[in-house]
Amino acid sequence: AKDAGRNRFSYFTPALQVAAINRMRMTNDLRSALKGGQFRVYFQPIVHLRSGKIHKAEALIRWEHPQRGLVSPLEFIPLAESSGLILDIGEWVFKESARWASLWRREHHPEFQVSVNQSPLEFQREGKGYEGWLAHLRELGLSGQAVVVEITEGLLLDASSGVTDKLLQLRDAGIQVALDDFGTGYSSLSYLKKFDIDYLKIDRSFTRNLAPESSDMALSEAIIVMAHKLGLRVIAEGVETDRQRELLLAAGCDYGQGYLFARPVPAEEFNAMLVAQSRA
Ligand code: C2E
Ligand code: CA
Ligand code: CA
Ligand code: CA
Repeated sequence: AKDAGRNRFSYFTPALQVAAINRMRMTNDLRSALKGGQFRVYFQPIVHLRSGKIHKAEALIRWEHPQRGLVSPLEFIPLAESSGLILDIGEWVFKESARWASLWRREHHPEFQVSVNQSPLEFQREGKGYEGWLAHLRELGLSGQAVVVEITEGLLLDASSGVTDKLLQLRDAGIQVALDDFGTGYSSLSYLKKFDIDYLKIDRSFTRNLAPESSDMALSEAIIVMAHKLGLRVIAEGVETDRQRELLLAAGCDYGQGYLFARPVPAEEFNAMLVAQSRA
């Protein structure tokens, strides 16, 4: 009995150490996932509310883990960020997105846009702007307009010249910028005037609570009016019900994205949705 007790004790590993080992293992897994082609880009439609047509798509990464199945980006993006791997991953997502945008602009809608997420670390990467992206777009014969970069509010608060420079570089290339998760962060509105932002994405937490006379309804309406006055288009995230779609449309919201229209799907499936739409 005494021996068993000692053995039990030796099995004990401090939680911090376990976490560190897991992190290391996951980081190695991430690296080989990129090399081994285990990442997929899924696309979710962004629907023009008035016409009901798919005008854009958001690229969302998935990890097809050989043992664990589909792993959510919420699980691995933070680690990809802290390990620096996010830079290579982001590069890959961009290239996949541009490739599909090229097809969809050619075959479905000449102004079709694919938006890609950029975490603050990617956006602020030192000594490296978007030259590589621009060269790649040129090779594909694609205009900068084919791509939208989604960034979060926090970036604009810390308006170092690095951030300003990158935003100017994007604008010069014709690449539009969307402010993601709007309303969840600091939500100081002054920077909407200061920076050249093209789209506001109203966070899902507002959409969820939309109801006539609700405070989230009032806030959403105010955000939409203000955005339009500043020349921005508005995309509502997390539209799940027809009621939400109606309220947003009535409030003048331009685009909707959410499970009501479709979940994020593999590119081939997204393509099939576009084909079906053009036949309808
Ligand atoms: P996000 O940019 O806010 O993306 C929207 C998230 O909401 C996606 O989660 C999407 O699947 C989910 N969503 C869409 N419609 C609905 C809806 O109607 N209801 C609900 N409940 N959820 C909806 P996902 O794909 O798990 O991505 C999570 C986050 O991971 C993204 O949030 C984004 O911050 C990050 N992410 C995803 N792909 C990339 C990437 O390629 N690069 C970077 N840096 N981050 C990424
Ligand atoms: Ca996003
Ligand atoms: Ca978002
Ligand atoms: Ca979000």
